[in-house]
Amino acid sequence: MPIVVQKYGGSSVADADKIKNVARRAISAQEKGNQVVVVVSAMGKTTDNLIKLAQQVSEEPDEREMDFLLSTGEIVSCTLLAMALKAMGHDAVSLSGAQAGIKTDATHSRARIMGIEPRRVIKELDKGRIVIVAGFQGITSRMDITTLGRGGSDTTAVAVAISLGADVCEIYTDVDGVYTADPRLVPEAQKLDEIGYEEMLELASLGSKVMHSRAVELGWLYKMPILVASSFSNNPGTLIHGGASMEIGNKVRGIAHDLNVAKVTVVGVPDKPGVASAIFDPLAKASISVDTIVQNASIDRVTDLTFTVTKTDLNKAMKVIAPVVKSVGAKECVSDTRLAKVSIVGSGMQTAPGFAARMFRALYEAGINIELITTSEIKITCIIDEAKTSEAVRALHKAFELEKGV
Ligand code: ASP
Ligand code: MG
Repeated sequence: MPIVVQKYGGSSVADADKIKNVARRAISAQEKGNQVVVVVSAMGKTTDNLIKLAQQVSEEPDEREMDFLLSTGEIVSCTLLAMALKAMGHDAVSLSGAQAGIKTDATHSRARIMGIEPRRVIKELDKGRIVIVAGFQGITSRMDITTLGRGGSDTTAVAVAISLGADVCEIYTDVDGVYTADPRLVPEAQKLDEIGYEEMLELASLGSKVMHSRAVELGWLYKMPILVASSFSNNPGTLIHGGASMEIGNKVRGIAHDLNVAKVTVVGVPDKPGVASAIFDPLAKASISVDTIVQNASIDRVTDLTFTVTKTDLNKAMKVIAPVVKSVGAKECVSDTRLAKVSIVGSGMQTAPGFAARMFRALYEAGINIELITTSEIKITCIIDEAKTSEAVRALHKAFELEKGV
């Protein structure tokens, strides 16, 4: 019998009625002849609220206890869903991440899945039950509960789907698929019927908050088709799969934007070997991921080095950099947080000429200044003034005629 894994996000299980809606959808998938596993997030804002509570009792909550606390959010939604299913006359069982065999490393608050031992899940499915798995959590080899990082239930769902050899992993959320741009900024944005993993990854990591990027990465690695669709309708959604990009290459597929960008400039850096490594080594050791890096050509053997980090990491980055500025003999280190990233995403970007020129022209015509530029095989990114984000996304959407569909 085909196995289907469905994942429902926090907004899809936010109250009792919504949980009953999810129950009905799971039953309907089972009645179509599938074995059904449902992965759930915590109800609505539960995780945020638990974090707030923890911060009220401790300035720096212990990370093991924090993970154990946060894991309870998903336990609430998964037990309620199992009860709802039983009340509708269908056999179901809820399992915590640990019971479902999800083994992780011990990196609390952003643990990585080391492997899944799906025996219990398979046993329950074979009894004809709908199996509900609590998302976002796992267990270490020392039996401590971990969480996978915010938004991690998507990753649970894809990993469970892979471990069971499911036909598809369905991610149900409050939007009905992946759009060419954020529909709140661009009303003409079109829903994509399908998209490649790599392109989706760029859209996900660049701030189109439809799906957790780690989940897309995992799907890509194991070629698990992922359907993103709405839990509130029966619209077809967007299928993320491997076959897509080849057929539809050399086209801009979407405009991504990200407001979580800060720029750091180390001013007056002596232009000599070893300086860049002196700056970036400590950042790497502090687990701060650096995105765009630009080093100006030096004048009189002195240069400026600029890079971007997330706004969230800025304070930490400035602290790490301060002693380095002194030790390498740079003048100072300054930062700017009023920035955003806008990107055009599509496969074959670098090999096809003209995309960059068209992007820069569109921004220029909209009167938007470009602070930094980066390109990759699959995207071109400009860092711009945060206040101009919506205008930029709209201008680019229009310039690449995405309102006509892709
Ligand atoms: N409940 C967790 C969060 O809010 C995990 C998830 O929603 O996927 O981040
Ligand atoms: Mg969530």
